[in-house]
Amino acid sequence: MARTGNRTYNIVTFGCQMNERDSETLAGMLEELGYEQTDDRLAASVVVLNTCSVRENADKRFFGVLGQLKHSREEDPDKIVAVCGCMMQQQSVIDKLKSKYPWVDLIFGTHNIGEFPRLFANVRDERRKITEIWEGSDTIPEGLPAKRMYSFKSYVSIMQGCNNFCSYCIVPYTRGRERSRSPEAILEEIRGLAAGGCKEVTLLGQNVNSYAGGVSFAQLIRMIDEIDGIERIRFMTSHPKDLSDELIGCFRDCRHLCRCFHLPVQSGSDRVLADMNRKYTRERYLERVAALREACPDIAITTDIIVGFPGETEEDFQDTLDLVRRVRYDSAFTFLYSVRGGTPAAERKDQVPEEIKHDRFNRLIAEIHAIQEEIGKSYQDKVLPVLIEGPSKTDPAMMTGRTESLKTVDLPACETLVGKIVPVRIVKAQTFSLYGELAADRG
Ligand code: SF4
Repeated sequence: MARTGNRTYNIVTFGCQMNERDSETLAGMLEELGYEQTDDRLAASVVVLNTCSVRENADKRFFGVLGQLKHSREEDPDKIVAVCGCMMQQQSVIDKLKSKYPWVDLIFGTHNIGEFPRLFANVRDERRKITEIWEGSDTIPEGLPAKRMYSFKSYVSIMQGCNNFCSYCIVPYTRGRERSRSPEAILEEIRGLAAGGCKEVTLLGQNVNSYAGGVSFAQLIRMIDEIDGIERIRFMTSHPKDLSDELIGCFRDCRHLCRCFHLPVQSGSDRVLADMNRKYTRERYLERVAALREACPDIAITTDIIVGFPGETEEDFQDTLDLVRRVRYDSAFTFLYSVRGGTPAAERKDQVPEEIKHDRFNRLIAEIHAIQEEIGKSYQDKVLPVLIEGPSKTDPAMMTGRTESLKTVDLPACETLVGKIVPVRIVKAQTFSLYGELAADRG
């Protein structure tokens, strides 16, 4: 049990890459305060839950994990339980925490993560509970410490917030208005990472391609492309309405920009896209995809699709299936529409019945997986550069890595290759992953 003198922390991260990046900052701050990371959440003297509110099950999982801490917190008055992230920007959640989880010590939001050391010290040293939520912020704090999860690849947040207000999405209400970091600060951070051996950076933003830090997003990518040591550049998440010809040109010209583009479409029906307030049509989306493929013929395109948006008809759904067949995605994240309180779509009376949602969902993923399997087979016997990331999650005898197009590759290799990009011959291709061997072995 946590007792005075035990200075350990455990951070639980829900949701997206932006939250993972924020958790690296929280870990960096706690390490600067003299705390050490532990996997034992019940024994840890500090537990931070970094929440997500994009989908219903994220809420449920959060309250589930929080409930498990009740006993260890009540047993140990020195233990500190803190909660932050997107859910804390909703008053209804704060009210529920105060009424049902009064033992939570610290509640803060997405805009004041930079204040964590001050808030934490006040809670610990004055043994009091604090709730501090900022409604918004115009800037992104610079110079915050970070304990990176990996040395060879890193997330770099370049902008935050969203001005799009898609009718199903809670993010504009939890992450606020768009604001971008300066190119100087971003380049300095990436040079520092490269000096530390980082090979791959993923630029993050809720709407990364609407970056507006003084140069265009495409110009920023061209600057990063010149940084010594960075061999792979990725970015997420993009909005089709901000996919400019200038950005597409980067896929033709930049040496280190991975030929992989995550371009959420959400639906293939113009009627549903309008109801979602997505600000593009299926024709415009297909035209952008064609332009991308013209600039970079072997680019891998992935996407997000929501099934069962209120009012979606079978005809709308057929439009989505048709678009999937036309684009032929390398992979897709598919979601059942989930009502998010506080969003316009949640108020709609024409919610799609669950059984219809599930039926469409199953038909959609069958279509996507069939295409994914065909694309997977096209990798057979190819030699691809793979960034070795560590032991395979499925086979301890194997190492695992990622191709440029984010395909997972398992292969027999040794630990010394972790963090290196090596040529791998694909010997077996499956829908979700590939198997390979070091090309050097076969000369
Ligand atoms: S673009 Fe739409 S879906 Fe994406 S974060 Fe903004 S509001 Fe949400």
